[in-house]
Amino acid sequence: MSSSPKTVVIIGAGPAGLMAAQRLARAGLAVTVHEKMPTVGRKFLMAGRGGLNLTHSEDLAAFKGRYAEAGARLGPLLDAFPPEALIAWAADLGQETFTGSSGRVFPRAMKASPLLRAWLARLETLGVTIRTRSEWLGWDASGGLRFRSAGGETVETPDAAVLALGGASWARLGSDGGWAPWLAEKGVSLTPFKPSNSGFTVAWSDIFRDRFAGQPLKSVALTFADRTVKGDAMVARYGLEGGAVYALSPVLREAILATGSATLTIDLRPAMTRQQLTARLHRGEKGQSVATRLRKLIHLSPAEANLLREGHGVDLPLDPGALASRIKAVPLTLTDVAPIDRAISTAGGVTLDAVDQHLMLTALPGVFVAGEMLDWEAPTGGYLLQACFATGLAAAEGVLSSLS
Ligand SMILES: Cc1cc2nc3c(=O)[nH]c(=O)nc-3n(C[C@H](O)[C@H](O)[C@H](O)COP(=O)(O)OP(=O)(O)OC[C@H]3O[C@@H](n4cnc5c(N)ncnc54)[C@H](O)[C@@H]3O)c2cc1C
Repeated sequence: MSSSPKTVVIIGAGPAGLMAAQRLARAGLAVTVHEKMPTVGRKFLMAGRGGLNLTHSEDLAAFKGRYAEAGARLGPLLDAFPPEALIAWAADLGQETFTGSSGRVFPRAMKASPLLRAWLARLETLGVTIRTRSEWLGWDASGGLRFRSAGGETVETPDAAVLALGGASWARLGSDGGWAPWLAEKGVSLTPFKPSNSGFTVAWSDIFRDRFAGQPLKSVALTFADRTVKGDAMVARYGLEGGAVYALSPVLREAILATGSATLTIDLRPAMTRQQLTARLHRGEKGQSVATRLRKLIHLSPAEANLLREGHGVDLPLDPGALASRIKAVPLTLTDVAPIDRAISTAGGVTLDAVDQHLMLTALPGVFVAGEMLDWEAPTGGYLLQACFATGLAAAEGVLSSLS
């Protein structure tokens, strides 16, 4: 007589939860995924709007270094599910990938929907049950998992549970961090959520904000403290955002939390030295205004030229050397971190000390945690999704070893 399979409840149908579901169903367990939103993977689909940067092609040691102190704990999980494994997984779902010039890896389709569709079809084949509009409400007095759906409240007592509830940004996509108090009540150690890969507020002049919000600053270099990042930034109505800003966001955030503001230095022409810029500016004709010289000789965009005035004041020097110095170092005061709900990802959540090497909560045996709800952060570049997939898989492996 064959015994019925062990049951696992996974809460949260983002990349971490669905990856855990795939592994557990493949091992023959009865898997039910609960998702409170009407459809699954909403943040994953949103990530797809930017092309879906799945992972990065740099060597694994450098890759692991992107997770700062959390790298020591995540390292073995990334060894078990490295970028090549993620690329192979996507290919197995019919989604070939390519590596862009920056080393970032994207699906050829440059969006998430075909991958998600194929993934859901695979999960269905494996027998995974997905319950949407089923919101987890924490635990009842006897340790059962409470859910609310259109049919009312139910309680589940599976053999194991995987929490993959996401971080605390873009609440409208489902990840609102509402789970934190329930885990805290159970004695799970948590750190407060903080925006990661987020923009920063700048007190733009009204004219600059109205004219240039939404315009990019291409191939600039941003410096804060001893760190310089080259890349693109984007002027937003509230301040500054974009890849190069996100890369500096942990240090900028901590500086703002400590002192109330941070001054970023922007080099508008990092590919040219101050001397080269000075030589170009010397070609200016007599009577030519600063604005004309910046446009004709340095090819600054209107947004860049006006950013110079935001940082240095409206009266820019005509002297070529002095003007070149200003182009190389535009000071910009960041007055605050943008609201957490706008952040690409969040730091904080369940501390890595609260879980064992299989991502099981030591305070709650049989309950595993995966994805962004764990306290780690990494820059954009595919590091976020890679860690979500790797932790989803690791939690599933943990479930399997705990139930064997
Ligand atoms: C605009 C944007 C672009 C991004 N682009 C990239 C990118 O290109 N590359 C990259 O690596 N990363 C990117 N990210 C980050 C990436 O999408 C996230 O890190 C990733 O989706 C987190 O996966 P997760 O499974 O941990 O959580 P999520 O994807 O947030 O999924 C968690 C799920 O849990 C559900 N849930 C929450 N609470 C409950 C509850 N009480 N009951 C039931 N269900 C619940 C939520 O509805 C949600 O569906 C981007 C993020 C954003 C916002």
